[in-house]
Amino acid sequence: MKFADLGLSDKLLQAVQDAGYEEPTPIQAEAIPQVQMMRDLIAIAQTGTGKTASFVLPMIDILANGRRRARMPRSLILEPTRELAMQVAENFEKYGKNHNLNMALLIGGVQMGDQVKALDEGVDVLIATPGRLMDLFERGKILLNGCDLLVIDEADRMLDMGFIPDIEFICEKLPAQRQTLLFSATMPPPIKRLADKFLTNPKSIEVARAATANVNIAQFKVEISPRKKKQALKYLLEVDNVTTAIIFANRKTTVRELNKDLQKSGFRSGEIHGDMDQASRIAELDLFKKGEVNILVASDVAARGLDIKGVSHVFNYDTPWHPDDYVHRIGRTGRAGAKGRSITLVTPADKEALENVEKLTKMKVPAFDWSSVAPAREDRSEPEPEPRGERQREEKPKRSRPKREEAKPEETAKRSPRKEKPEEAPRAEKRERRPRYEDNDPPGKPGDWNGPMPGFLGVGFD
Ligand code: AMP
Repeated sequence: MKFADLGLSDKLLQAVQDAGYEEPTPIQAEAIPQVQMMRDLIAIAQTGTGKTASFVLPMIDILANGRRRARMPRSLILEPTRELAMQVAENFEKYGKNHNLNMALLIGGVQMGDQVKALDEGVDVLIATPGRLMDLFERGKILLNGCDLLVIDEADRMLDMGFIPDIEFICEKLPAQRQTLLFSATMPPPIKRLADKFLTNPKSIEVARAATANVNIAQFKVEISPRKKKQALKYLLEVDNVTTAIIFANRKTTVRELNKDLQKSGFRSGEIHGDMDQASRIAELDLFKKGEVNILVASDVAARGLDIKGVSHVFNYDTPWHPDDYVHRIGRTGRAGAKGRSITLVTPADKEALENVEKLTKMKVPAFDWSSVAPAREDRSEPEPEPRGERQREEKPKRSRPKREEAKPEETAKRSPRKEKPEEAPRAEKRERRPRYEDNDPPGKPGDWNGPMPGFLGVGFD
């Protein structure tokens, strides 16, 4: 199928062509005609499947006809996090560049003044997180009764974040006669109930789970004792041809500590988690976009759905508690046809969580193949840490690592085989290192950032 077969306008087809897309993804091929027919829609689809364009493209054509009015947005897209809201806004800019449509972004953590000003000028599409939208609605700054197209994106994440009552409230304020599109990676009972209550005769479509169907992601696990996790991670970062990586941890404190530790060890890393203010999150993401850092340590909420092209690796420093998060996390790599790798560190306490992942994805995550890493070299005097768990004891990894820089003689002298070290004092954490990448040793191609830019808050995009 071609985009031209979907009945999109010429202006939109031009924008799609400029975006470099050759053909619609399965979710786009299925969803776009339904949206054009003004049907309600339940779409089970992950990020990474092209789902954003599956609602943004037809919305642009629908909104191309009609007039905007002050404080009365014509359509509303609800997103669970600021980052996702900004990403969808950027998609609107990209695909709507040949249209004269106004967009406003209502997200927490940024000044309300500009947002209110944009609303006053009239917007065709409002992209919002539920909290900020409720806030402005309750202050009387926004009227929802002119909004007859609603998108609830990442509904299962909305549920995780406790937004369902807000969404119900918002749905009740919208005109009863409207089109509602609901996107979710999974369909837990509360989302099903939400859909039953607020959607009318919806068409249901489902595209293959990214995690199970995405053959472009090679998934591995490394069974390891908790105190060896940092060492194993650093080792893997060095030997597995990592160009750009996102490392997920379950707790914000771990994100902070791990980033600090990686930086101390000479890695060019940054962090993103829910405790950071919006400006810092944007700044950190921007560094990642520019390639100034090539490793981003992240929490689930902050990094959910981020679309960053060219991420070579996803590491689960902690096995996620919720199997869905595993699917979302690894979906940050292997995007848009590229190859990616995901490596999950599994401690004995994580065994059950991994089993849940395997149940959900209906596949066994194989053990990391240590023989696949760079071959040993004579001058690699530094042995690797021992990233082996109880069940991998026989699989002795090679004691080698690729050469990053010449070891100083005294440093080499300090190095003794790892097994002689007490477990409590992993040498990789004590050692002083220069930054991994030198000027003549570029960090590989950083991810083509396709994510949020602060400049477009409340700005039209014609
Ligand atoms: P999403 O699932 O919406 O997060 O999109 C995942 C990525 O796929 C984004 O980087 C999009 O720019 C890209 N994309 C969306 N549609 C297509 C398409 N038809 N062909 C190639 N890439 C696409």
